[in-house]
Amino acid sequence: MPELPEVEALAAFLRENAVGRVITRIDLAGIQSIKTFDPPLSAFAGLEVTGASRHGKFLDLDVSGLHLVVHLARAGWLHWRENLPPAPPKPGKGPLALRVHLDNGQGFDLTEQGTRKGLAVYAVRNPSEVPGIARLGPDALQVDREQFAALMGSRSGQVKGALTDQTLVSGVGNAYSDEILHAARLSPFKMANKMDEDELVRLYDAMRATLTDALERQVGQKAATLKGEKRSGLTVHARTGLPCPVCGDTVREVSFADTSLQYCPTCQTGGKPLADRRMSKLLR
Ligand SMILES: [Zn+2]
Repeated sequence: MPELPEVEALAAFLRENAVGRVITRIDLAGIQSIKTFDPPLSAFAGLEVTGASRHGKFLDLDVSGLHLVVHLARAGWLHWRENLPPAPPKPGKGPLALRVHLDNGQGFDLTEQGTRKGLAVYAVRNPSEVPGIARLGPDALQVDREQFAALMGSRSGQVKGALTDQTLVSGVGNAYSDEILHAARLSPFKMANKMDEDELVRLYDAMRATLTDALERQVGQKAATLKGEKRSGLTVHARTGLPCPVCGDTVREVSFADTSLQYCPTCQTGGKPLADRRMSKLLR
């Protein structure tokens, strides 16, 4: 799932390549992806793209005061196209959700792989009309140390859940929370409100460093290659069974119903493997 660094890099890419161009047409191919009806997508035709920004994991294209807001969800992505076919796409077939045509023949596709469709597009006059944006907590790269400590202290659940709760701190998802907790040498099962001063400082510094590093690697990349670059910078996320690059221990996994987390026992949990409910159920 695209998180803060990927979405910020997409916004930067659109600022360079789309801002200043006029939208000629928007094709909707995946009917389920549009979540609003007023203004209609046809209202964007003839208007100039004036900005591109990010709110948490939402991408916001400012089109002369109208906003096309996108949440890429788990398997969504933005593909820049140098030459868009003029014929409208067939609705409901394949991964294409929405296509934006610009006045120079270029444009972009919003696509989503798989059968579970979560990609969401909102056409609004103000980004705060999007419920997910209105609920966002402070941005992970803007929250200060004191505010971050207070937010974590307010949460009685596990730190992994607190970091990925967009209403608490926005921008961090499943992949970067694994990376941040590894860099901070903290167990994902640690209770958010039971962290001492030193642990909070480690977590805050790791969050900033991890996101800033990922952002620097990605900004300036072509939209098509951003996703691959994200994978190459990871230390534990999606690396189950591979050696931890810090200590050489084997990266382990905890599975949940529809997601999983990865961690290094030596770096994060005093060498002890965490309980994996799914595995224990299978072994019973
Ligand atoms: Zn390690």
